[in-house]
Amino acid sequence: MHTYDITLALTADLPLWPGDSPFLLEQVEKVENGEGANVSRVSMSVHMGTHVDAPHHFLDNGKTVDKLPLNLLIGRAYVLSLPGVELITASILEKADLPPRIRRILFKTRNSDAWANREKGFRTNFVALSPDAAEYLINRGVRLVGVDYLSVAPFTDSRPTHEILLKGGVVILEGLDLSVVTPGRYTLYCLPLKLVGSDGAPARAILVGV
Ligand SMILES: [Zn+2]
Repeated sequence: MHTYDITLALTADLPLWPGDSPFLLEQVEKVENGEGANVSRVSMSVHMGTHVDAPHHFLDNGKTVDKLPLNLLIGRAYVLSLPGVELITASILEKADLPPRIRRILFKTRNSDAWANREKGFRTNFVALSPDAAEYLINRGVRLVGVDYLSVAPFTDSRPTHEILLKGGVVILEGLDLSVVTPGRYTLYCLPLKLVGSDGAPARAILVGV
């Protein structure tokens, strides 16, 4: 049984959504300075690295991240590889021959090369889901969608895909590193920080082979 850590390592040189708050991890107490312990503090966007979007990210009256059901964030998941795809559409998903009754799907695309190559710059041409792909997944009964770049939606048109998924009660997991993951069936464990009232939260995500 193999375990994949599909979480991005949080460092200041990780690509950041344009305009988002910079990542800062700093030690504020140091043993070497005669203090009792080493203590750090962190400042970051909740949408940096591997993270979960709560409905509140796009819907003012939507649930916040602390209210997301853990039973969606943990369980059977399917990793679908779409290597030559630039935009994930409903017609691509129809042809992808998805197994029946999948509730959680993670998309492995050329985006994962960015993590394998430790790219520092933000990509605007990342692969994402079209609004009709979002509708297709909801109609298939999917309740969690994971992507291997920082947004589930195309860079120039964030709202429609997010809105369809979040209104449909789908949990969105973004910033996954699927570069070394073989497509197929796994058990996903994704645990976002319990940030009360937040529109998103950094998460640790792992896949365990089944
Ligand atoms: Zn996000």
